[in-house]
Amino acid sequence: MKAQPNPVNPGRHRRYCKICGHPLCKDIERDFVNWKSPIAIAKEYGLADRMNVYRHAHALNLFEKRRKNIRAALDRIIEKAGDVEATASAVVAAIQACAKINKEGQWIDRSEQTNMNLLFERMTELELEAYAKDGTVPDWFRQSVGAIDSHVQKGKDNE
Ligand SMILES: [Zn+2]
Repeated sequence: MKAQPNPVNPGRHRRYCKICGHPLCKDIERDFVNWKSPIAIAKEYGLADRMNVYRHAHALNLFEKRRKNIRAALDRIIEKAGDVEATASAVVAAIQACAKINKEGQWIDRSEQTNMNLLFERMTELELEAYAKDGTVPDWFRQSVGAIDSHVQKGKDNE
């Protein structure tokens, strides 16, 4: 999927947007960029539905910002380490990935060509939403990260 440069008229957007006029607009944006689920955001800030969040995010290019914020995304997986849903290998992969990503969200392991940004760009809106919601990554994504993981010959934890 290619991101289409969809021209949004900022003035027109602002006039109709519930988030632009929201007193906690900046908090909403921060939560979105930190991979908080749009459903949870809508609920927390009393927005009618998550489409408001998507529209605002689209108009202000927050999707791009969120994609680059891979560290926050990985942090969400690592945070889930105590939950039953996150498997040990997913957590280990996330921690290792986190260690190799710089502030710009670039993969800094020279021996690996795979760029996490590209993996995120390949995710559909639905997959991204599932990820934001509970840290679920699609199988192909896990396989890509797993492939990277096997290059790292660090004592592999047993599952
Ligand atoms: Zn807005």
